[in-house]
Amino acid sequence: MPQRIEIKGLKVSSSHFLVGHPKCSRLHGHNYYISVVVIGPVDKKGFIIDFSVLKKVILDIVEPMDHRVLLPKFSPDITYSPIELSGCPVYYIFVRKKLYVLPVEDICFLPIVATTAELLSKYLYLRLKSFYHNLEFKVSVSETKGASGSFELDDDNMAEILGLVRTLKSKTKGVATS
Ligand SMILES: [Zn+2]
Repeated sequence: MPQRIEIKGLKVSSSHFLVGHPKCSRLHGHNYYISVVVIGPVDKKGFIIDFSVLKKVILDIVEPMDHRVLLPKFSPDITYSPIELSGCPVYYIFVRKKLYVLPVEDICFLPIVATTAELLSKYLYLRLKSFYHNLEFKVSVSETKGASGSFELDDDNMAEILGLVRTLKSKTKGVATS
């Protein structure tokens, strides 16, 4: 019979912006708090998964996001142009009528269309699921106190998610940065 465990309070501090949003379209930051519920069978040693192992896997996934600017690689409203400026590798980031210039090392590209809490939680779910096929997860990402987005598998999104996990697994492991 499946049981569940939960890890709460993993913190990632990042900047982002949401294109077209009246306030959040300006560059700003959050201390994101991540919690992960794991559902699965308990093994002979009494574990679904060792907390310390799970924590390390999550920290490895989110480390490229920490203290960086999160940028949605697949946004139709943003154009990215890598360039070297005075010997410094940077990206020109055109967002409608705005231009940001950011150092490459300060950026974390994510394979999503917008860096909302909803899509960040879905991204983290997919990364975990590609690691642990036999377990189920509910991933929540909190932007501010009392405001969070979460993602878990259900009957409506199952076909899409299993396809995405297969695609993600066939790509390189270090998806978060490029
Ligand atoms: Zn925000």
